[in-house]
Amino acid sequence: MARSTINRSEPDEHGHWGEFGGRYVPETLVAPLEELTREFAHARDETDFWSELEQLRRDYCGRPTPLFHAQRLSAHAGGAQIFLKREDLAHTGSHKINNALGQVLLARRMGKRRIIAETGAGQHGVATATVCALFGLRCVVYMGAEDVRRQALNVFRMRSLGAEVMTVNSGTRTLKDAINEALRDWVTNVRDTYYLLGSALGPHPYPLMVREFQSVIGREAREQILAQNGKLPRALVACVGGGSNAIGLFHPFIGDEQVRCIGVEAGGRGEAAGEHAARFHSGLTSGGGRVGVLQGTKSYVLQDRHGQIANTHSISAGLDYAAVGPEHAYLRDAGRAEYICASDAEALEGFSLCTKLEGITPALESSHAILPALRLAKNLSSDDAIIMNLSGRGDKDVQLVADVDLTVEGDESHR
Ligand SMILES: *Cc1c(COP(=O)(O)O)cnc(C)c1O
Repeated sequence: MARSTINRSEPDEHGHWGEFGGRYVPETLVAPLEELTREFAHARDETDFWSELEQLRRDYCGRPTPLFHAQRLSAHAGGAQIFLKREDLAHTGSHKINNALGQVLLARRMGKRRIIAETGAGQHGVATATVCALFGLRCVVYMGAEDVRRQALNVFRMRSLGAEVMTVNSGTRTLKDAINEALRDWVTNVRDTYYLLGSALGPHPYPLMVREFQSVIGREAREQILAQNGKLPRALVACVGGGSNAIGLFHPFIGDEQVRCIGVEAGGRGEAAGEHAARFHSGLTSGGGRVGVLQGTKSYVLQDRHGQIANTHSISAGLDYAAVGPEHAYLRDAGRAEYICASDAEALEGFSLCTKLEGITPALESSHAILPALRLAKNLSSDDAIIMNLSGRGDKDVQLVADVDLTVEGDESHR
């Protein structure tokens, strides 16, 4: 693809990156989405908007987050220097706050007093409940019943922050059902309600807006690597659920064609349909990722032969979703970004390595990027650098990892 096309990272006015993205919604949501698009376009051009956001990023979120030279992980790989972008140190423990804060300022500009959100593992719900507490706004979070059960601690955190957590009992009772309910609520209450969507997904302008708010990750990382290492990195590595932390890191480097952008999807338990969430990798299997529409946007979607949304699995709830953000689909087809996957077992190994070698416990989502980063580093020289996005901290996952360890020990004792 021609250079000019690749560098054109703005979607067209209808939110299309090539054939991906757009706005596939019921008639009632067209006007609210147009209003949101206009409001975002205005805010984006105003220095006041960005200076308020800048101040909150600094004083409330603790930005800039550090870029940490992980020397023991680098030595373990035996090649390039590995740098970790420390989103785990951002307020509430992941990159999700970057987006929640940007969007809540937009909601305030629009005079909306009620905020709704969907959440899977609860990280986005916690970030949204947090910014609503900060500004004294009503907050309603939709969460699948299955996730409510699995993520009791985050449910408690949201309720402590003053949010109402609505349990969703339809479908598979997970994230996609929570999104459907949130969209339904929005249709009904659109006059006073703002829908704060959590990843680089959904109808236009969400994928663009979320990318803009998350790009702070890549802008900081670019400055930091130049200051610390004197040159651009050879590669960026980030896990990809909906794709917000990855696009946030990649975006400011898209024009630097020598920098490889590598996204890591959830390989789960294996290649069979329902066992993974690798939207870009399942041409091999029956439940393959193909171009389709899910929840308002066109992208790669895991689906069966009849176009029904396939079941997905990942050890990390944050990567467990059937579709991927449309800009990733575009960057992939344009050859500007590459997507690989890491299995549950590889994520657990990355989790353990990073914890033992660096004293940093990553979220299981982020842990998917660790072994791929080590393998990549191994084939590069020690003068080279790669940046891995440590999208969140792993405290929320310690219990799950402990349970898996026990199961493995149990298996061995039966042999
Ligand atoms: C939600 C989450 C993810 C996945 O979401 P993206 O939109 O793909 O970034 C990754 N890491 C952490 C820590 C998360 O909370």
